[in-house]
Amino acid sequence: MRLILIGPPGVGKGTVSALLQQRLGLITLSSGEIFRREIEAETDLGRLAQRYIQHGELVPNGVTIEMMAKRLRDPAVVRHGFVLDGFPRTVKQAEALDEILFNHGIDLDKAVSMEVPEDIVVARLSGRIGCTKCGAIYNSASHPPKREGICDVCNSPLFVRDDDKPETVRERIRSFWTNTAPVIEYYESTGSLMRVDASKDPESTYAAITAA
Ligand code: AMP
Repeated sequence: MRLILIGPPGVGKGTVSALLQQRLGLITLSSGEIFRREIEAETDLGRLAQRYIQHGELVPNGVTIEMMAKRLRDPAVVRHGFVLDGFPRTVKQAEALDEILFNHGIDLDKAVSMEVPEDIVVARLSGRIGCTKCGAIYNSASHPPKREGICDVCNSPLFVRDDDKPETVRERIRSFWTNTAPVIEYYESTGSLMRVDASKDPESTYAAITAA
């Protein structure tokens, strides 16, 4: 299965893609997560990406497309199927992805638009905590870890993302409506779009995606 998850920040793309990875063996490629690892490793790409990420802006298309194209060249990704979380985020990126898949001789199965009212998104982002190692996601109010600051899955320390502060969140939501909403229309026009109600728990969203 080859899927794309599209939705505003905080909609639950990371949580649902983790379920798809654990249960169906799909390889998750999260552009945001890849950027965060590059920042941590202090690479040139990481330094460049950080300048945009810290303001809630998109990293330029050129470097983002090149980075994802490199990951999508891995034969394991083509063989096992994948779920793209956070890419494509612009129509330019969607067109580039079409070309990459065409060159591999593979098709996309579905572009899933995860849809929620904006107040739910904001509530989910305030209080979001992530694992530094395995990427598990918690929320201090609605889904706290069993031990404060420690991941239930792998015992690593948890962290609050820098770009989850309110002013950056507002910019990320604005960027979603300006840059990424047209990507939903793009996949609607190609007939690959599937809309799911992501306002309930991640299990319901997972069930809706796998049922389709
Ligand atoms: P995410 O973890 O998906 O919320 O991404 C965190 C940040 O990384 C975003 O706010 C952007 O600054 C950057 N980013 C992630 N994916 C992309 C992309 N496909 N295109 C441009 N910037 C991205």
